[in-house]
Amino acid sequence: MADRFFKNVMPNFLAEKPVDNTTSSESGEDSITKLICLPDKTLSDSLRISALDLKDTVVRETWGLSGKHEQDYTVYTGALGTAYLAFKAYQVTNNANDLKLCLDIVKACDSACRDSSRVTFLCGRAGVCALGAVAAKHAGDEMLLGHYVTQLKEIKLSSDLPNELLYGRAGFLWASSFINYHIGNNTISNTRRRSVADEIIKAGRKLAKKGKCPLMYEWHGKKYWGAAHGLAGIMHVLMDMDLKPDELEDVKGTLRYLIKNHFPSGNYPSSEGSESDRLVHWCHGAPGVALTLVKAAQVFGDKQFVQAAMDAGDVVWERGLLKRVGICHGISGNAYVFLALYRLTGKVEYLYKAKAFACFLHDRAQKLIFEGRMHGGDRPYSLFEGIGGMAYLFLDIFEPSEARFPGYEL
Ligand SMILES: [Zn+2]
Repeated sequence: MADRFFKNVMPNFLAEKPVDNTTSSESGEDSITKLICLPDKTLSDSLRISALDLKDTVVRETWGLSGKHEQDYTVYTGALGTAYLAFKAYQVTNNANDLKLCLDIVKACDSACRDSSRVTFLCGRAGVCALGAVAAKHAGDEMLLGHYVTQLKEIKLSSDLPNELLYGRAGFLWASSFINYHIGNNTISNTRRRSVADEIIKAGRKLAKKGKCPLMYEWHGKKYWGAAHGLAGIMHVLMDMDLKPDELEDVKGTLRYLIKNHFPSGNYPSSEGSESDRLVHWCHGAPGVALTLVKAAQVFGDKQFVQAAMDAGDVVWERGLLKRVGICHGISGNAYVFLALYRLTGKVEYLYKAKAFACFLHDRAQKLIFEGRMHGGDRPYSLFEGIGGMAYLFLDIFEPSEARFPGYEL
């Protein structure tokens, strides 16, 4: 088990210290501890410089100076992930070149995805339309905004579509929530959104029939629990909808079922009946569930969800320093659990933990990858598997009130 993650030897909490050059060099503190203890402004500046350097590398490798684009257009591993990172950089620095870069990449993705049958935000055409629409709004380009919104409205969902986040109905629904959140309610009509949510709930109730959990779903023959393909992701998206009282009860009941059946370690199984307590990822395991529980705590105001979210956060701290950098199954994604817990509870320990994970990456990741002790990701420059995600986290970490797990938190 231990070979999936680095043993976390960082203290559970350290306060920021005033800069004192005489003692810091003699105290024997390791480089990460020194980084964490830097005043926020100093650390923030350092992470921001690193983030923008990483972003330039990602752009160079995935897009090129002349505007080439890869076959893979998705947010998850493709060019659209670079566009999303450029958009984040624009939000932080207000540099119009980043917004233009984002729109240029989205335009290329728009051409590349025309024949694609994938419909979600993270892995399909809805991501192109939703990000394109939001970026066009920021650029003040009403025509382009209209183009992307129309494209999204025209996406058809086939009746045999799965319900999960990466390839299914929940992933399409999330794209519509993203557009409505950033552009205005009813940009994608409630009627359309409601019909997709109806399908999701109907399918969940049908498969759950006679089971102990009110809603259940299958993807490729497995009843997944995690954020990417399973219950945590689907419940997360449903909680952005105006649900009827009986539907809210089913969502609540489903989350209570997950909480009741977690592993003795506090981690969550990746699928129904799985006894393999290995994965502490956003896609599978406690981190994705934790973000859903934070959302549940906000939606339902129920202390049980707050406690369960914090308990899942403890697992992420203990076993979440993964030997990968990315958002989906890497340290960057896991850091977002602490940012979410900080927003929920206001406890400064969580902000420290998010910073600690970011400092670990900042101090060690490139070296560990170079030495072969950390995996650089199958798509090493991508947003969800590579250093794109690390750059995104570094841009987010010092505005926790604004920080959102990309493609998942609104
Ligand atoms: Zn993953």
